Amino acid sequence: MAAPSLLHDSSGSALAGGGPPPERDLLISGAHVLDPRTDLDGPADVLVRGGQIAELAEPGTLGGQGAEVVRGEGKHLFPAFVDPHVHLRSPGQEHKEDLETGTRAAAAGGFCAVIAMPNTDPVLDSAPLLRSLREAAAREARIPVGFLAAITRGLEGQELTEMAELMGEGAFGFTDDGRPVASAGVLRKALQYQRLCGGVLTLHEEDPSLSKGGSMHEGAVSAALGIGGIPSVSESTMVARDAELAGYEDGRVHFQHLSCAASVHAVAAAKERGFRVSAEATPHHLLLTDEDVRGMDTRLKMNPPLATETDRIALIEGLRSGTIDCVATDHAPHARHEKEVPFEQAPMGTTGLETAFAALHTDLVLPGSFALGLLVERMTAGAALFELPTPTVAVGEPANLTLVDLAAQWVAGENGWESRSENCCFAGRKLTGRVLMTVAAGAIAYRERAFSVVAA
Ligand SMILES: [Zn+2]
Ligand SMILES: [Zn+2]
Repeated sequence: MAAPSLLHDSSGSALAGGGPPPERDLLISGAHVLDPRTDLDGPADVLVRGGQIAELAEPGTLGGQGAEVVRGEGKHLFPAFVDPHVHLRSPGQEHKEDLETGTRAAAAGGFCAVIAMPNTDPVLDSAPLLRSLREAAAREARIPVGFLAAITRGLEGQELTEMAELMGEGAFGFTDDGRPVASAGVLRKALQYQRLCGGVLTLHEEDPSLSKGGSMHEGAVSAALGIGGIPSVSESTMVARDAELAGYEDGRVHFQHLSCAASVHAVAAAKERGFRVSAEATPHHLLLTDEDVRGMDTRLKMNPPLATETDRIALIEGLRSGTIDCVATDHAPHARHEKEVPFEQAPMGTTGLETAFAALHTDLVLPGSFALGLLVERMTAGAALFELPTPTVAVGEPANLTLVDLAAQWVAGENGWESRSENCCFAGRKLTGRVLMTVAAGAIAYRERAFSVVAA
């Protein structure tokens, strides 16, 4: 049984899970260390002792007496990634994923911490349930997990949860993800409670009166396929409305999975006005469009839907400029039988933890449209948004590291998945860049099977 690993933030919320630090020191020798926040960008030896980064030195200079030596020459070492938006499906939907398989998938993708959504069965909307889930994560999770609780009871959009009590039990904030908070009045009341109890209000934006009956982005492709569409204004009008409400109540709001240009503009306008808003984008919205849905592969059915090339470019620009603060996967596992149905009947969602870095590296960094250091920054920036310590490669910091072979080519899913589900929108694609090892909160959370390690 893994010892519970808790990382406390300023409000008392805490991550749960992750293994104990290894008893032996760990020396990662000669990898190209890249941390955009410390300006580290070159080969170095990194020694991890007791779960902390104990020494950083010129390559070849650390002996590592008795340490386990990981040969990093020719590889890259980054601060490990943080994903503020995953669905671990526990409790109640463990046939899709659970705390162990979901965090195993995260570690395999280079993540050292994730934040899980509350649209479980039952919905995570009460303090006793949060307590038991955090205890389960402390036992089962490979890497530390934080939990968002529901904004409204049962995600029904009517009655607020006991927000203060949930914060006291260690919630990182609140979301009705999977659904919007359709009523402006209910969201306003949540913003007023937030002032008393803290926690980020995290919003899935969609106007049900516009999205109803839709299975993909409304546009030329949906018209050609004869599939009901979801117009982009379903999202962007709600982003604009809720940014306005956040500004009015001086609330702290995070917008999930932006999918279109109009939403990026709405967030930019809100930031310009000094509102306390942040936003995320997913690898699938950054890399795919509704054109990819022509084959009606249900793995490409997600909410919000993949939009147009213009929207995709706006998301990339938004991520580059910082209007969009971070990458989040919205890892949404579904069992095979649930996705193997006609497109319109399939549930929304794609898995994403195991492919996020490789897909973005392949399609944005290698063609030269996005700097590697900036990608690492955006894949770790989710931590600060939820008041978690940002993974940093520096002496004295907890070891949160991911070792990557940027030249390794692989086909997504060819050797199966760590996730229990395989509904990945990038499955079958040839990707360049592979995570070899992840250290999360000082513990080795993942090692690629073929990657050899030598003992000193
Ligand atoms: Zn959502
Ligand atoms: Zn989600």
